[in-house]
Amino acid sequence: SCKGRVSTSMTRSARFFVQGMHERGDRIAIDDADVHHINAVLRLHAGDRIEIVDSASRAFVAELEGDSRHLGAKLVEEVDVLPDDDVRIDVAQALPKGAKMDFVIEKATELGAAAIVPFTSERTVVRSPAGERVARWNRIARSAAEQSGRREIPVVATPISYAGLLRRFGEYDCTIFAWESANETLRERLPGLLRNASRVLVVVGPEGGFTLEESAAARNAGAVVVSLGRRILRTETAALALLVVLDYERAAQTE
Ligand code: SAM
Repeated sequence: SCKGRVSTSMTRSARFFVQGMHERGDRIAIDDADVHHINAVLRLHAGDRIEIVDSASRAFVAELEGDSRHLGAKLVEEVDVLPDDDVRIDVAQALPKGAKMDFVIEKATELGAAAIVPFTSERTVVRSPAGERVARWNRIARSAAEQSGRREIPVVATPISYAGLLRRFGEYDCTIFAWESANETLRERLPGLLRNASRVLVVVGPEGGFTLEESAAARNAGAVVVSLGRRILRTETAALALLVVLDYERAAQTE
């Protein structure tokens, strides 16, 4: 590692993301939402240490300064943090009902998703949400990224149509489309799928599933259509199951 840097140890300080690019010695203001978390949840005060990650993904040990109303931090030392994974896995999730999307975003962030792309399809019952909801999803991704020690915050996109989603398949080395009626299973296809792939998209349908036509259109657009096994998973479980399996396979292949 570069001279003057320290590696983060097993126990690390709470991590917060800030806007802008910074250097050691900089003093930075802490966001109101983070101030609340630092004061009320973590119960940290001036003199305590946190970790700050800036917009260029550089991480610093920082010392809190000021009082609970005007909390700032001084960047004491740059640290090496584990980079996010070299294989980038994005999750396309059909809009589920109620607060399930919050759950998917939080868990997908913990499990390393690089981006989350909500979409509508024939059987989604929820219509595209207002901008405020998307902003809220991005806040959920941010706090889950902080909590789980990610270097990057996954972006939650504004929901797109199914046709728009199909057009995006070409951006990926591999698109894995989860369809319970598929002839092939993920297990059969998996070893070859991640080889030489650096951008992967997984696609999960809504509560009512995908139609036959939608799965055929996905295959035509280049997706690998696979079943995840004999049991039907809820929509909010499927993406998480896929992320766990892919992460395991990626780790096994890079060992
Ligand atoms: N169409 C089904 C029904 O209504 O009985 C189930 C849909 S399932 C609740 C929601 C989504 O999760 C599906 O569109 C699919 O993407 C994914 N999924 C759930 N179980 C799956 C499995 N065993 N294999 C592949 N995909 C699955």
